[in-house]
Amino acid sequence: MKLNYLVNFLENWAPLTLQEEYDNCGLLVGNDEMKVSAVLVSLEVTEEVILEAIDRKANVIVSHHPVIFKAVNSLTGKTEAERCVIMAIENSIALYAIHTNLDSIYGGVSFAMGTAMGLSNMKILAPRDSNLYQLVVHVPAEHTDALSKALFQAGAGSLGNYDQCKFSTNGKGSYRPLNGSNPYLGNIGKIQLVNEERLELLVPSWSKGAVEKALFLNHPYEEVSHAWFKLTNKSSNTGFGVVGELPSALKDEELIEKMKFVYGAKTIRYIPSKDNYIKRVALCGGAGIDLLSLAIKSEADAFITSDISYHKFFDAKKVIFLADIGHYESERHTIELIADHIRSKMTNFAVLTTESITNPIITS
Ligand SMILES: [Zn+2]
Repeated sequence: MKLNYLVNFLENWAPLTLQEEYDNCGLLVGNDEMKVSAVLVSLEVTEEVILEAIDRKANVIVSHHPVIFKAVNSLTGKTEAERCVIMAIENSIALYAIHTNLDSIYGGVSFAMGTAMGLSNMKILAPRDSNLYQLVVHVPAEHTDALSKALFQAGAGSLGNYDQCKFSTNGKGSYRPLNGSNPYLGNIGKIQLVNEERLELLVPSWSKGAVEKALFLNHPYEEVSHAWFKLTNKSSNTGFGVVGELPSALKDEELIEKMKFVYGAKTIRYIPSKDNYIKRVALCGGAGIDLLSLAIKSEADAFITSDISYHKFFDAKKVIFLADIGHYESERHTIELIADHIRSKMTNFAVLTTESITNPIITS
C-alpha cells in the first residue's frame, strides 16, 4: 500500500484544517508514493524511536508531536529533532504528525484520556465556532435514498456520536425545460411537476468539496437545485477537552490513586476539591489550563490536564479540584488511539506501538 493512502485515511479522521495556526501537522518527511512496510506509532520522534523503527522494520512513524515545528534553515544535526530528520531521510523512513488536529476531533486525544478513566457521557469541553455548513437539495423522491447514501459516504450527516443524520420533507417541484436542455423528466417548453424531497444535511467544512462532488455525481438532474448555508452554531464535533462522568463518585485521594494507575503518573500536583467529592470530570490532554474556566462552567468537580504554572493553581482554589499529571502522562493513551484507528481499516501492514519511553522528564 502506498503512503498517500494512509495519509488520506488519517486526514479524513483528523483533517489538517483543524490544526492550530502555530502547528505543523501532516507528512513532514518522505514521499507519499512510497510503499508502507509497517507503521510505528509514538507520541514524539526521538533518536530512540527512529532506531526502534529501523530495528522493527517500520518505514513510517506516525507521531502526535511534530518533529519539525518551526521553520528549519539548516539541517546539521545540532538538535535532536534535526538528527531525527537526518536519520529518517538516510533510512527512508517517513515521518507523519497528527497533533492539534487530533486534539480537536470528536474521539480524539482527550477522549482517549477520558475513556481510560472510564468516563461516560463524554462531550467536548470547548466546542469550536462552527465549521459547519447546511446543505439543502431537492431531489426526485425515488432518488432520495441513493443520493443520501452517497452524501453520507462523502462526509455529510455526522453529529456527535451519530451519523447518517438528515431531514427531509416531501413537496412538488416544477420547472420548464428550454431549448438545448436534456431534462431527467419532461419535455421542452412544457412545465413539469415532479414529486421531490427537500433534503437537509450538516456538512463539516473539510468535507464540503467531496460532498458537492458526490451531489453532482449522484443527482439525476442536469441542473441540481441546491444551496449551501454557513452555520454559526458551535460544533459539537470539534474542539478541545472533554467533560464526562466517573462510574461512581470518588474522594480526592481515590481520584489521585486512580490517575496514578491509569496515566502512570508518579507525582501529581493538585488543588483539592471543595467537598472531597468528584463525579463529573473535565480533562484536556497536553497543556490545557486555558480551559479551566470552561471546566468550572461545565460544573465539573475536577479538571485534569498538564503543564500548569504555579499562579494558575490559585484560580482553582476552593472552586474545583485541579490536577497536573504531566504532559506525557496525559497523552500516553493517544498512542493506542492512533494505532487502533489505523488497525481498524489497514490490514496489509503491521501497526506497532513504540516501546521507547519518550518522556524526557525523570520523576523521582
Ligand atoms: Zn502534547
